[in-house]
Amino acid sequence: MYKFENIVGNDNIINSFIKANENNTVSHAYILDGKEKTGKELISKTFAKLLLCENNYKNPCLKCSSCISFESGNNPDFFFIDSEKKSLGIADIRDNIIKNIETKPFKYKYKVFIIKDAHNMTIQAQNALLKTIEDPPKFAIFILLSKNYNSFLPTILSRCILFKIKPLLPNTIEKFLIDKGIDSNMAKFYSAYSRGSIGVALDIAYSEKFINFRQNIINDVEKLDSLDLIQMYNIINKYETMKQNINNILDIYLLVYRDSLIFKQTNSFDIVIQKDIQNCIKTISNMSVKNLINKIEALLKAKIYLEQNSNFNMTMEYLFFKLKEK
Ligand SMILES: [Zn+2]
Repeated sequence: MYKFENIVGNDNIINSFIKANENNTVSHAYILDGKEKTGKELISKTFAKLLLCENNYKNPCLKCSSCISFESGNNPDFFFIDSEKKSLGIADIRDNIIKNIETKPFKYKYKVFIIKDAHNMTIQAQNALLKTIEDPPKFAIFILLSKNYNSFLPTILSRCILFKIKPLLPNTIEKFLIDKGIDSNMAKFYSAYSRGSIGVALDIAYSEKFINFRQNIINDVEKLDSLDLIQMYNIINKYETMKQNINNILDIYLLVYRDSLIFKQTNSFDIVIQKDIQNCIKTISNMSVKNLINKIEALLKAKIYLEQNSNFNMTMEYLFFKLKEK
């Protein structure tokens, strides 16, 4: 159900949307930028539903014909462009937007277009869209969802209001999970892996696969010190096949070293997040403080390199030599 109460955090963005709607100052084009699963789709769809609602200005009424048809996916004035392809071409923009903008809304005040993964638009597609958002009909509202607003042409950026979605604080996610009925220890643990994303936290909390995946990686962390070079390269090769999850893998390493460092310093499991792997944490906490900190630093660096699209194997080699340093 799309209503603002269902969105966690991002109050400033939601309030700007509501205010604009109340004051009749809604802009023709917005960009919602943020990492994977940070709520871009939920926020933008709720805003679209509000714009189209026949009764309310602050929150969709959930009762009018527009709200009802929106919820069932049949609102005639709402367009969600979700191309499965890696790039959004000029034909996608023409067929989904330009053709639909020639006619007035079917029933409601606006026609709202949300473009998912809009950062994947080709330059030609962006130019085609630009022509439309430079001189849009009164009723047209565009919301571009993106993971990297730097891939937009400056001319597109200058026409849109840009909102950046920030990762949520661990406490916010923890509370959200506890409200969903998840045990408080587990909520802390899932929140630590979620990187500030409710979507990721939920995926993890309800996934059996994640538990096995995590165990597999923790086994690697535990035996890391005893590996010879060939075994080390085997692990790098294994991770290459799991490349799309590398951020999760490195987060598991990070959390194990973080917890070991905490245990070493406090000699207690009170503020250790992963209370379910006490033996592993005790063993690893035998390393020196300096060694643990060096490992954490190397992991953080590797994450940055990967984010900047550095060569995967070189980054992993660098990381593993650092992790194996005594
Ligand atoms: Zn309504």
